[in-house]
Amino acid sequence: MSQRIFWIIITVLGLAFAGTTTALVVTLASDSGDETAIETAPRPGRVRGRVYDDYGNMVTAGIIVEDENGNQERLQTNYLGGYTLRLPPGEYRLHFTRGMQYSIVTEDITVESFKTYVLNDVRLVRLFDSRDYGYYPGDLHHHSTWSDGADDVDSVLLSHLSNTLYFGFLTDHNTASGLAEWMQGDRFAVDMTPTGDPVWFSPFLGNEVTTLYGHFNALGTGIVIPEWDIDVSKGDIPIEEVSYIADEIRRSGAVSVINHPFSRDELGFYFWEILDEFDAIEIWNGVYSPHGRENVQVREYWYGLLNDGRFFPAVSGSDNHSVRSPYNPNWLPANPTDDDLYHDDFLKMGRYTGMPSFYARIPDGTISLENVQYALMNGHGFMSNGILLFADVDGAEYGDTHSLNGNTTANLNLTAFGREGIDVIRIIHNGVVVEEIDVNAERHYENIIVIDSLEPGDWIVLESEGPMARYAITNPIFFD
Ligand SMILES: [Zn+2]
Repeated sequence: MSQRIFWIIITVLGLAFAGTTTALVVTLASDSGDETAIETAPRPGRVRGRVYDDYGNMVTAGIIVEDENGNQERLQTNYLGGYTLRLPPGEYRLHFTRGMQYSIVTEDITVESFKTYVLNDVRLVRLFDSRDYGYYPGDLHHHSTWSDGADDVDSVLLSHLSNTLYFGFLTDHNTASGLAEWMQGDRFAVDMTPTGDPVWFSPFLGNEVTTLYGHFNALGTGIVIPEWDIDVSKGDIPIEEVSYIADEIRRSGAVSVINHPFSRDELGFYFWEILDEFDAIEIWNGVYSPHGRENVQVREYWYGLLNDGRFFPAVSGSDNHSVRSPYNPNWLPANPTDDDLYHDDFLKMGRYTGMPSFYARIPDGTISLENVQYALMNGHGFMSNGILLFADVDGAEYGDTHSLNGNTTANLNLTAFGREGIDVIRIIHNGVVVEEIDVNAERHYENIIVIDSLEPGDWIVLESEGPMARYAITNPIFFD
């Protein structure tokens, strides 16, 4: 059969089996010889360039590549801010990013086969600096190929740097295998001081103790706890094993976190009677949207604990399993509900490293394990995928207590920043929204708000929402 007729047949077969076209063509083409297969593969073009910060330093950055059909995924520069993308022929929109506090630069480009394009230098400008308020973002929950993540440790490190995260815990399931490489990440600059000195990334040891009766982050240890393998057929009693795991995490010097407690089945947490044996609760897991049932239920449970006078510091984690977080718009049903549209915004925003970040308050700016653990265990921080919320009552910040001294009112100093704009900031007093501030899509908001009807034992938490499923929630400020 002539090659021409052969290809017509393949094309017809391909149309007939629309869903499996690619696999079919590849199989038949390779039957006809490698040469044909190579000739018919799409030949990429190459796109090269460099990314700088506002001081003129080359910096690691993310590049969200969006094709003409709305598919997107996040690639990244190398450690020095250079990149070479190999893209199949087509039209692309490239978004250069560096996390929540930098500008985004967007470039459109048409790529042809074999061509190499050198783009103009990209300059990402810092729009806001949480360090001015003593807060440093990091990710507390991240996977790599050493367990079920899609990316090697090198890519995970780049992902932290390219999102301007100052610290990170690698938390693969029941393994320490990636940690030796992970800890080498302290030789990479994540940022510069205003005077141009490098700020080194702080990698910390961790692992996710993963059992059939819940998942628990051990933040600050490379010890793998063998009791994760709970087997009732061998006489293991799950609650006793989980209790032992919690003790063992603490004995190893790590912070113990109950992860995604309201996920279904073995991912959830069921032994609330031994809650006190843990240090913190993951109230926001980045796999789920801020409006997702799993996150909403844990927030409500946590408010209930606070109302009972029990303070468990809240933490967040991206739980990222893919730094590229590919987005495909075709998942949306024909008649999407409001929930579908919200979830689409959430997916399109990207489940990237640091989404959400824990912004740890570290007044002296030294990002050591000791300082980060202190912030985590005392609730000195807030959680965000894009809106930054800073507040204090007479100097008492998140996790602190303000003395009312017989008064029933207090002044809350509030500063907020959101690159995409802020829709609303809510003040939650003892679990009830007492004030809803309409921010009118402003990027920067500052105000002093009077909180009244305060009594000793009360607490407030702030929450904020913005476009594209942006959300932030804080740890409490207490009153006595
Ligand atoms: Zn987990």
